[in-house]
Amino acid sequence: MLDLIDKRIDELTQLTVDLIRFPTVNPPGEAYTPCAEYIGNRLKRRGFEVEYVRGIGAPGDNDRYPRTNIIARFDGRSPGPTVHFNSHIDVVEAGEGWSVDPFEGIIRDGRVYGRGTCDMKGGLASSIIAAEAFIDAYPDFSGAIEISGTVDEESGGFGGVAYLAKQGYFSKPRVDHVIIPEPLNKDRICLGHRGVWWAEIETKGRIAHGSMPFLGDSAIRHMGAVLEAFERDLFPALDRKVTSMPVAPVGARRSTMNINSLHGGQTDAFYPGLPSPNVPDSCKMVIDRRFLIEEDLGEVKSEVISLLDRLARDRANFRYEIRDMMEVMPTMTEKDAPVVQAIGHGIHDIFGKDAEFVVSPGTYDQKHIARIGHIYDCIAYGPGILDLAHQPDEWVGIQDMVDAAKVMAIGLNILLRGTR
Ligand SMILES: [Zn+2]
Repeated sequence: MLDLIDKRIDELTQLTVDLIRFPTVNPPGEAYTPCAEYIGNRLKRRGFEVEYVRGIGAPGDNDRYPRTNIIARFDGRSPGPTVHFNSHIDVVEAGEGWSVDPFEGIIRDGRVYGRGTCDMKGGLASSIIAAEAFIDAYPDFSGAIEISGTVDEESGGFGGVAYLAKQGYFSKPRVDHVIIPEPLNKDRICLGHRGVWWAEIETKGRIAHGSMPFLGDSAIRHMGAVLEAFERDLFPALDRKVTSMPVAPVGARRSTMNINSLHGGQTDAFYPGLPSPNVPDSCKMVIDRRFLIEEDLGEVKSEVISLLDRLARDRANFRYEIRDMMEVMPTMTEKDAPVVQAIGHGIHDIFGKDAEFVVSPGTYDQKHIARIGHIYDCIAYGPGILDLAHQPDEWVGIQDMVDAAKVMAIGLNILLRGTR
């Protein structure tokens, strides 16, 4: 089986190049349908049953930019478990600073360059080659293999994995084990991610002429008091909360909060060149709180709300509103789960060392597979160096893709045939 993968290096490379040439940039969700059809046509030729599912009504879905997902399934000779490889086909914008065309798929020095090589079309190509090699080597296997190419991961996955999960594509009895070939480095297994709470805090004031601020009440000064309370009490408290989750990088092994934005008063964009002459009656801040498996979402929220309530008691005229924007629960697959063990054996066989377990500081589509699909035997494993994702001159190493494909094929062999 592994020799079949070695023989298909050129095919693996070309497949990656072909995928890069679809500029599946999100937003807006360009070229999703031709990319999905390219994957579907290839897998259909290899005997897979292919379905296209459009995320109708999902954010961004319209006839110009349809959210086209592809799901392919290959049933073995007899019933058994199903292993599903899920890759997102969307990529982020190329941005500035490239020395090569980001959508040409340039091959140089054993690497394929282009937007989405690392995150994560190289991983998708590896999973296709791994599945095809396994099927060719063991055509009488039991169970099934699925490969999906899904949209919108970079914008939350609502038209992609979340949409499919709501329709049962990521639930038992259809699926048992899920591998997401995100670029976590070829010798690491990503077990899950931290939780997320986004909220918008608004402080209220009263409008007045800017020359007589004492006649009004500045919402920005009230927000200043919020920032001061965060600096004095909240950030030091978050820094003290450490986790047993093996988050990489190590700096994210604690609770964190980012202030994503802060807007008070009328912006200059409202009427360029004519800034507001008023005391601001509103100031809004968006916070992005990342929390740990040891934390409870209710406590995470009350930590912030209790600071705001204290200001409402202690500070004259302090009024606020807080609005939830997004909640994602932390998730972490057990180290003794079947898919972790199977891929762990593959890493050991190919690299001669134990897999390193990591947890992602940010979330990815595993959240929908756990929360909506209730599949907890799920990991991220794929080639590509995480730090290169979303960067200019993004690349994936060809040997890394070959090695990862071998690890995936060994994983299939263990999960579907019970042998190495
Ligand atoms: Zn990704």
